[in-house]
Amino acid sequence: MTPEEFRQHGHQVVDWVADYLQAVERFPVLSRADPGEIRAQLPSRAPVQGEPFAALMRDMEEIILPGITHWQSPNFFAFFPCNNSGPSILGDLISSGLGVQGMLWATSPACTELEAHVLDWVVQMLQLPRHFHSDSQGGGVIQDSASSATLCALLAARERASGGETNRRGVGRPLVAYTSDQAHSSVEKAMRIAGLGSQQLRRIGTDEQYAMRPETLADAINRDRQAGQTPCFVAATVGTTSSGAVDPLPSIGEICRRENLWFHVDAAMAGTAAVCPEYRFVHAGLESADSYCFNPHKWMFVNFDCDCFYVRQRDALTQALSILPEYLRNAATESGSVIDYRDWQIPLGRRFRALKLWFVIRSFGVEGIQRVIRRHVALAERFAEWVEADSEFELAAPRALNLVCFRHRGGDSINQQILDRTEKSGALYLTHTRLDDRLVLRLSIGQLNTEQEHVYRAWRLIQRAVREDLPFVEG
Ligand SMILES: *Cc1c(COP(=O)(O)O)cnc(C)c1O
Repeated sequence: MTPEEFRQHGHQVVDWVADYLQAVERFPVLSRADPGEIRAQLPSRAPVQGEPFAALMRDMEEIILPGITHWQSPNFFAFFPCNNSGPSILGDLISSGLGVQGMLWATSPACTELEAHVLDWVVQMLQLPRHFHSDSQGGGVIQDSASSATLCALLAARERASGGETNRRGVGRPLVAYTSDQAHSSVEKAMRIAGLGSQQLRRIGTDEQYAMRPETLADAINRDRQAGQTPCFVAATVGTTSSGAVDPLPSIGEICRRENLWFHVDAAMAGTAAVCPEYRFVHAGLESADSYCFNPHKWMFVNFDCDCFYVRQRDALTQALSILPEYLRNAATESGSVIDYRDWQIPLGRRFRALKLWFVIRSFGVEGIQRVIRRHVALAERFAEWVEADSEFELAAPRALNLVCFRHRGGDSINQQILDRTEKSGALYLTHTRLDDRLVLRLSIGQLNTEQEHVYRAWRLIQRAVREDLPFVEG
């Protein structure tokens, strides 16, 4: 592809994406492809000769698009959002164009400095604790995902708990970690990867609002100490994936300080809400956290992947993750005056992700982001009111910001029917969870273009899906 061809096809692709995003609402939200259907349409071997770009775009439309679930549809209410926006897509495109690999400060100073700078902006935007600012002993880094952030936090905790010996000698002692029974599966996965094992993770019970019980945590720590185990890490959640529950950070933090445990806070989805002063209560108690993460790729209009990960003591992180082979030695690193982000993450290489975050923050402005967050929360509030006003339905947990957990009172099978019928219709996409062993429907609002009409239509369709005697059509 010559530069001129690139320009021409590039314009065409930008038009394609713009048309797609404009029309995304009209696609069935969940792909209707059967397993293997996409691959069956692809040739078994790579082409020997290069193909014209038009052929690529044709297959994109005819083969790939039918196998796409439309995460950017305003009728996508499943899981948690994974949204994007114009400025983010363009920032990512420039990042691809530059093709930078920012493992070291020296491999592109702007990649590192913009990242540190924008992460400081985010500290201020969300009013995060001062010790996460880069002018303190801590600082922030962009990870690919909350899962990686939690793993890095655990590795730092593991190294600290062993007095810096784990990297040299392996996990010598039975280290224990704690999280709630509602925490994300990534905490257990991190335990496996870190070599501590699932069995060493204590799942602390939760209260009637699905938040961790701090007394139970304190008891479990005591019991482990008495049994000769070494507690090292607690992961609290702000906005659990099932129901949006917020663990009581102040009392958990107090226990962690007293017991000298690493305190990690996972706010993957809900963290963004703190951009609005009225929702900052979700972070009450964050001052005692050793590390914190949230995903702008969930609810801050930055396309996947982008997780902001902060630590109180950057040394604790780099002691766990830094290793300097001869071929990476350079004057800037030796001087000690720069950040080398390779020491703050698992892989060596890293993309220039700060660009898309910077583009989003600058294009929207803080107020622009606040406006969308407030709209999403207001829509969820309205939906929760509709649920409560219908005697056949009930809320299954308190509404949590932009997430509503609800169910039909008629039991699991009718709720399953609602899931099946809405999913098949393509008109909306909901997912489920289980709370107190009952099937619960989740409506999560976070796409940039979701407006009241979409949420209202979803509610009407959900009500309609109960009537088995009626055909499932929009009316
Ligand atoms: C979504 C989610 C995660 C995992 O996010 P990734 O960035 O995909 O790893 C972790 N924790 C919570 C609470 C989540 O909601």
